[in-house]
Amino acid sequence: MSEPSDSVLRGITDDGAFRVITARTTQTVRGAVEAQGVAGHTARHFGDLLTGSILFRETMAPNMRVQGVLKGAGNSGSVIADSNPTGQTRGLIQLKAGAKEVELGQGAVLQLMRSLPSGRINQGIVEVPKDGGISHAFMAYMQTSEQVLSMLAVGTIFDGERVVSAGGYLVQLLPEVGRGPLMVMTERLRDFESIDPQLKDSAFNPAWLLGELLYGMPFTKLGESPVRFECWCDEVRVVSALASLGRGDLEHLLSTNEVLEIACEYCKRDFRIAPARLRGLLEQS
Ligand SMILES: [Zn+2]
Repeated sequence: MSEPSDSVLRGITDDGAFRVITARTTQTVRGAVEAQGVAGHTARHFGDLLTGSILFRETMAPNMRVQGVLKGAGNSGSVIADSNPTGQTRGLIQLKAGAKEVELGQGAVLQLMRSLPSGRINQGIVEVPKDGGISHAFMAYMQTSEQVLSMLAVGTIFDGERVVSAGGYLVQLLPEVGRGPLMVMTERLRDFESIDPQLKDSAFNPAWLLGELLYGMPFTKLGESPVRFECWCDEVRVVSALASLGRGDLEHLLSTNEVLEIACEYCKRDFRIAPARLRGLLEQS
C-alpha cells in the first residue's frame, strides 16, 4: 500500500468559536531528517519544529515564508525549519562543535520569522517552557507574540531512526468564543495533549484527526493544502552563500581554475560550478 502524501487541513466550528488546523507531515519530516542525517532527541525536536512551523504558517501567515529556529540549551546548536506557502518545506541542523544533540532545557528558545511581502521580516522569540517541549513553546509564542490563544500539539514517531508518522494540530480560539464552548474544548483537548497515540493509529490523517478533535461539534472543512519535503535551492542561491567568504578566499577558489563542487546545506544536492560561471554568479550576487 502506498503511503498517502502529506497535507494540512483547515476547518472551523459552525458556532464560529474555533479554527482548527490539522497536519500530516510524515514524509516531509522523514525527508528532512534523512537529508540532515540526524537522529536521537535532535531528530524529534526537528520533526516537531517542522510540523509546528507549518501549523504556525497556515494559521498566521499562509501566504508567507515562515522560518522556525530552535536554539538549544547550553549553546548546543540550532534546529531550523523553513516552510514556504507553496507547501515546500526544508530544514537544517547546526550542531555546535563537540555537541552531540540540540537539547531543550534552561536557555532553549524558539524564534519564529515570517517574511513580509515588503521584504521586511517580522520575528519574535520565546523561551521553551520547562515542560511540554516544542508544542508548549509554540503555544507560548502564539500567546505572547501574536496575542492569539491557541492549543497545539505536534509529534514525531520513529521506528529506530526512521520517521514512521508525524503531524499535529492547532486549535485557535476566535474572538467570538463564549465560556461554554471554551470549557468544552479545553476539556476535550486534555485527551490530545500528546498526539502520539493518534499518530500511531492506522486511521491517522488530517481529516480523521479533525473529526476526532471536533467529535460531536458541528464544523465545516475549509480547505486542504499539500506539504512536502522539497528544497528551493538553485545555483545562484548556493553561490551567493559563498559571498560571505573573504575576497582572498574567493580569489583563491577562482585561481585554482577547477570545477567547484558545492552542496546545498538543506537538501545536500550537489552543484558543480565551472570557474567562469562562478565568476559570473559572484558578480551578480
Ligand atoms: Zn537544497
